[in-house]
Amino acid sequence: MPGTYTHKFDTPAYKGEATIHTGLFIGGKWVDPIEGGTIDYNWAASFIRLDFAINPPASILAYKTVWGLHYPGAGRGKLLNKLADLIEKNIDEFAALEALDVGKVFAKAKVIDIGGAITCLRYYAGWADKVQGKTIETTENKLAYTRHEPYGVVGQIVPWNFPMGMVSWKIGPALATGNTVVLKPSEITPLTALKLADLINEAGFPPGVVNIVNGYGHTVGQAISEHPQIHKVAFTGSTLTGRKILKASAETNLKVVTLELGGKSPLVVFDDADIDQAVKWASHGIFFNMGQACTAGSRIFLQEGIYDAFLEKFTAIAHDLAAKTGDPFTPGTQHGPQVSQIQFDRIMSYIDSGKSDGAKVHAGGERHGSEGFFVKPTIFTDCHPDMKITKEEIFGPVAAVIKFKTEEEVIDLANNTEYGLACHVFSQNVNRAIRVAHALEAGSAWVNCAQFTDIAVPFGGYKQSGIGRELGEYALDTYTQVKAVHINIGTNL
Ligand code: NAD
Repeated sequence: MPGTYTHKFDTPAYKGEATIHTGLFIGGKWVDPIEGGTIDYNWAASFIRLDFAINPPASILAYKTVWGLHYPGAGRGKLLNKLADLIEKNIDEFAALEALDVGKVFAKAKVIDIGGAITCLRYYAGWADKVQGKTIETTENKLAYTRHEPYGVVGQIVPWNFPMGMVSWKIGPALATGNTVVLKPSEITPLTALKLADLINEAGFPPGVVNIVNGYGHTVGQAISEHPQIHKVAFTGSTLTGRKILKASAETNLKVVTLELGGKSPLVVFDDADIDQAVKWASHGIFFNMGQACTAGSRIFLQEGIYDAFLEKFTAIAHDLAAKTGDPFTPGTQHGPQVSQIQFDRIMSYIDSGKSDGAKVHAGGERHGSEGFFVKPTIFTDCHPDMKITKEEIFGPVAAVIKFKTEEEVIDLANNTEYGLACHVFSQNVNRAIRVAHALEAGSAWVNCAQFTDIAVPFGGYKQSGIGRELGEYALDTYTQVKAVHINIGTNL
């Protein structure tokens, strides 16, 4: 039977307890998975339970009877605001669970991950009563208008690098627009989503509006992607998995799929950049969250005139971060471990491949210490476009630096990738900065900054980095379908 799990934190950064339920949260109750097993101490959903989450009495029933078009937008906004308030009340506990689960630095998890999730839910609370259709003038005897209606039950599948952040980006717009949700956290980092489930009830959401089902991707995630009663799936994760979800949709009920996928984002620094600013942002761009960020500026293109000066300062920051690497719960720590052994091994094998392909290690290039999953902030120079470390998403604190001469050359080099999530341009020449930002093929272009998402600004990828947009007003469109109503007010045919 599902139970509870309590973790006691007795650390310099946080002392306290966090308790989570370990079952599946379906129809407002904690239930066991019937014939499923466990992942560590959490229960994993089986297909049978998943079906139970979707079919009556859970999410479809909730959609058809109490939620969807039955619950006023202002009321949905009130519940989202209440949920945000409850998370804020428990912010230390959430941050501690997130730091424990992912290896994030506690102080950063509190502000960026949990603080960001609260902001996101409040932002979409504000939209809940403002999703409107249009009246369209056609002929004298006809009136037409549109309604932006929810899909019903939406499936949401999230990754491990920003667990609460991604949950809030998903449930915020979905609930604001009146959908019910079946959400699968990453099997690697389910703790904060499970903690959230209790607050869903406390905030007063009707049972079945939000269902949280743990489990592996190839079982539960796949079942969500194939389920005939789900008409929309929102996914954040790797391009490989995104492809499987699209395929499952194509082979079942053609559900609408939005995908936020991987990246290998270029960061271009011109000779006329403010070097100190560029170095500061570039370091944040690649080392933030131990490099486990989809928008990481992992290919750094330096124009030849500033190459040496930039590299010297960039290397100094990498060394400084290496010196501040350690326990995420120790104040002063700036750089924690990678999320798992698998991720650690993956990053180390990319570092080995960079070395054997002839790239030069300028900083790091090895594990930090002798235990744990710590990787030193790493800078490779002498990188070529055909090396694995330049082409593939490493998802770790590893920068590949490439020298360039001209604007035309760097635009070609930067666009030479299957990905298109983000790009960064550093130049104090406003014409050049804007020209290059427009020429680079990416869904987010950051000028003189990096990794700077804002809840109000749309986010998503070009090329194989995704389909659709999250955040801002744009996300509302991806959770609603438009009905056109035609009314005849005359007598003629
Ligand atoms: P992943 O694709 O392995 O897993 C993501 C989620 O998908 C997990 O919940 C997993 O259980 C599930 N899943 C796995 N196989 C599935 C299947 N066959 N059907 C349905 N669901 C399945 O990715 P990850 O390792 O958790 O996260 C890292 C990746 O996520 C990186 O590539 C990163 O770039 C990407 N990411 C993208 C964004 C973005 O907004 N673009 C944000 C964060 C992470």
